[in-house]
Amino acid sequence: MSQTVSQPLTTSAGSRFLRYVTLDTQSDEQSESYPSTAKQLVLLNQLVAELKDMGAADAEIDRFGYVMATIPATPGKGHVPVIGFVAHVDTSPDVSGANVRPIVHKNYDGRDLILPDEPGLALREADHPELAHQRGNDIITASGRTLLGADDKAGVAEIMAAAEYLLAHPELAHGTVRIGFTPDEEIGRGTQHFDIARFGARYAYTLDGPTLGDLEVENFSADALTLTFKGFSAHPGYAKGRMVNAIKLAAEFVHRLPRHGLSPETTDGYEGFVHPHQIQGGVERATVRLLLRDFATHGLDDKAEVVRTLAEDVVRPFPSASVAIERHESYRNMKEVLDRYPEVVTHARTAMQRAGLTPRFREIRGGTDGARLSFMGLPTPNLFAGEHNIHSRLEWTSVQDMDKAVQVIVELCRSWAE
Ligand SMILES: [Zn+2]
Repeated sequence: MSQTVSQPLTTSAGSRFLRYVTLDTQSDEQSESYPSTAKQLVLLNQLVAELKDMGAADAEIDRFGYVMATIPATPGKGHVPVIGFVAHVDTSPDVSGANVRPIVHKNYDGRDLILPDEPGLALREADHPELAHQRGNDIITASGRTLLGADDKAGVAEIMAAAEYLLAHPELAHGTVRIGFTPDEEIGRGTQHFDIARFGARYAYTLDGPTLGDLEVENFSADALTLTFKGFSAHPGYAKGRMVNAIKLAAEFVHRLPRHGLSPETTDGYEGFVHPHQIQGGVERATVRLLLRDFATHGLDDKAEVVRTLAEDVVRPFPSASVAIERHESYRNMKEVLDRYPEVVTHARTAMQRAGLTPRFREIRGGTDGARLSFMGLPTPNLFAGEHNIHSRLEWTSVQDMDKAVQVIVELCRSWAE
């Protein structure tokens, strides 16, 4: 049993990444098919072939596009809990992912990184202070016209490189390891058809986070509210004392929402918010859609109560007006699940330390596939993959951060086997 820090690995993650990003795998929220775009299947099928080539004989893709494969346990380690590693292949619909031209900026020294396909566009340390920790590393950007796709092809490349490393080093003891690649994460459907039973892991890790050492074990709990204001229509020339305009009820409600705190524009860290994101309607009827976010589920109840009180206050002076409120659960903080399995986080922390990193706990101000998997019965925190400025033409990663992520995966497998 080795508690010492391992030597840094040089892996195939960087070269794999450069190949994977040239395939356009953008997902599409307008699509009703699954996966939402057929082009994601090109990479998913390629991953199956590469997994088989490296010796993961059971690699397969199901009818929804999910890729799963096994790295068998080393001799005598069949009793170790099965752990899984998961990443998504799709890229954000917000920015083009077609004809990505990755550029490796070798041996970064603080210079501006020029993106040649868009004059004037450059990655500068002054604007992106995280770059200061990358001196000497090989930074990868896109060329200025597209996103890069580090979210989450960095995670895909790291898991692939780790699988290759483990299969080539049978002397490193580990239990059964399962690998999963998913489509459609960016449009919120990444786990829609994920077959937990077929995956067969007891615990899993997504590799889909930003900075070296980041360990994400909590995320927002989230609900959606729809408020329907009913007014009373009349001919506007003869409406005196009779008309109640639902548009004005909705507008008055939005106006009364707290602005200092409780809103996305004025909160960060562990603060939650109430966010009106859509409003539509006419004189008779107007709807306002809101997002509720809080790290504690009871905090969502408090926020729903604030909304209800405000809305009822708005309609109260008008006997012919009313408001109806519908609340739908979106997702929950995975910490509620992970707190019951502290060993999942303990092993991640140990693995990072053995890879020479200082683990940093970060909260996700959004959802993650790992949160959904956790509530489906597969506890799944999120680990750094080295992706920065995601969903942007300034997206970047570094070869050395990817190699570190591979090392963390390898150390995680070893830690669980001890
Ligand atoms: Zn992602």
